[in-house]
Amino acid sequence: MKSQRNSLLLSDGETTALVDAVADIAKAYWLSLPERRTYPATSGAETEALLTRSWSEEGIGPAVFESFGPIADRSRPAGDRFFGYVFGSGEPVSAVSELLVAALNQNVTSWRSSPAATTIERTVISWLADAIGCPGLSGSLCGGGSTANLMALAIAREAKCSANENGSGGGIVYCSKEVHFSIPKAMALLGLGRKNLRLIETDDALRMQPDLLHRAITDDRAAGLMPIAVIATTGTVVSGAIDPVEEIAAIAREQDLWLHVDGAYGGLAALAKPEYFAGLSLADSVSIDAHKWLYQPVDCGCLLYRDRNAARRAFSQQADYVRVLNEDPIESFVFFDESIELTRRFRALKLWMSLQYHGRAAFRAAIEQDLANAQLLARKIEEHPELELFAPVSLSAVCFGHRDKDNEALLRRLIARGRVYLSNASFGGRFTLRACFVNHRATPQSVDLIVSEVIDAANEIND
Ligand SMILES: *Cc1c(COP(=O)(O)O)cnc(C)c1O
Repeated sequence: MKSQRNSLLLSDGETTALVDAVADIAKAYWLSLPERRTYPATSGAETEALLTRSWSEEGIGPAVFESFGPIADRSRPAGDRFFGYVFGSGEPVSAVSELLVAALNQNVTSWRSSPAATTIERTVISWLADAIGCPGLSGSLCGGGSTANLMALAIAREAKCSANENGSGGGIVYCSKEVHFSIPKAMALLGLGRKNLRLIETDDALRMQPDLLHRAITDDRAAGLMPIAVIATTGTVVSGAIDPVEEIAAIAREQDLWLHVDGAYGGLAALAKPEYFAGLSLADSVSIDAHKWLYQPVDCGCLLYRDRNAARRAFSQQADYVRVLNEDPIESFVFFDESIELTRRFRALKLWMSLQYHGRAAFRAAIEQDLANAQLLARKIEEHPELELFAPVSLSAVCFGHRDKDNEALLRRLIARGRVYLSNASFGGRFTLRACFVNHRATPQSVDLIVSEVIDAANEIND
C-alpha cells in the first residue's frame, strides 16, 4: 500500500514489482481467453457505475492494477470465437512487444530522432511490400486503413491537381459502391467533397465494373470536370469482393489517374494467395492493415506508394525546428515529409518481433486457415435447410442469414448468448449476419460452433 505519493519517480524495486505484476496479469488474461464470454455481460449503467470516477489527489499505487480484472470482464475479448467486423486476433508476441515500444519511447520522426526505429520501420515496410507482391514500394506505418486512405487521397490530389497552396479546385474520384466509408470521409476532410466521389456499380460478385468506370470518367470529362483518382478495393469491407485491379489499372493509366488500392482488409492475403490480387503492383498506392490480416494488436495500419516524391509533395512542410542537419542519404531520412504525423509511435517493433518470431510460413498458413474456415462455413450454410448465403465468399467474410427468422433479432440473441461473436451488414436493404475470419486462434470447430449457435439463437426467438 502506498500512503502518500508526491513524485512520479519509481524506485528500482517498484519498477521490478510493477513489471512482474503486469506480466502476470497479461499471462492470466491470455490463459482465460478460451473461457471468456464473447460479449461481456454488462450494461451501460453498470460499466459507468464501476469505471467512471474522479481523479484522486493522492495516488493509490500498484492497487490501481486491481481494476484490470473488472475492466477485462467488461471488454470484448478477441479469442477463438470472435468473428465480428474485420478485427485481427491480437498475436501475443506482438502484444508483449508493445511494452518494449513504450519502454523505449522512441519518437519515430526521422533517423536523427530514432536511428534503429527508423531503420526497422523501413525494413518492415519492405517486408510488407514484398508480402503483397509489390517490392520496392516506400511508405510508413500509421494508425489504420482510414488514415492510410486519407493520406493516399492527399497524395493523389496533390499529384493530379495540386491544391496544397491555393486550395482545391475540385477533382473527381471513382470507386465501387462497396467502398469503405473511410473514402467518402477522406473526400470530405480533403475538401474534395463527398458528392465528387463516383460510386460505380458492381457485378454479381460485388466487384467494380470497369466498363462503367470508363464511361463515368468519359462523361465527367465531357462535362468539363477533372477526374483525379480511382480507388480499387481488394477485399471490400462487407463481402470481401476483390475489384479487377488489372483492368482498372489499365483505365487509370490511359486516363492519367492516380490508382489507389484499398487493401486494408484483404491486401495481406496476397501473402497466401497472390493469384487473387493480379495487378496490385500496378497501383500508385496501397493501404494495408497489419492489425487485420497479420493478426497484430491495434494499431498497425500502413500506406505504401511507388513515388516518394509524390508523397513529399503532399506532406512536406518547412520549419526550422525540424530542419535536418545532415546530408547522408540514410541519416537524413525523415518520415514527417511523407506522412500526416510528426510524433510517431515505434509501431514497427511489434511487427519486427512478431514476423520474425513466427516466420513467413506461419502467417501464410494462418491466412490459409482463415480462407478455408470461410469456405467451410459457406458450405455448411448452403447445406443447411434453414440458412442461406447472402453474398459470394471471395475471401474470409461470410454474409448469411436465417431464411425464416428476423436476422436482426437473431443476431441480438446470438451476441447475448456470449458464445460466438458475429457482426452485421446489409445488402440491398436486407439485414445480414457476417462472420469474418482474421483469427489465428479459430479452428474448424469454431465453424461448427457458429452454425450451432445461430440455430440455437434462432430457436430461442419468435420469428
Ligand atoms: C477496415 C477497413 C478500412 C479502415 O481501416 P481502419 O484500420 O479501421 O481505419 C478501410 N478499408 C477497408 C476495406 C477496411 O476493411
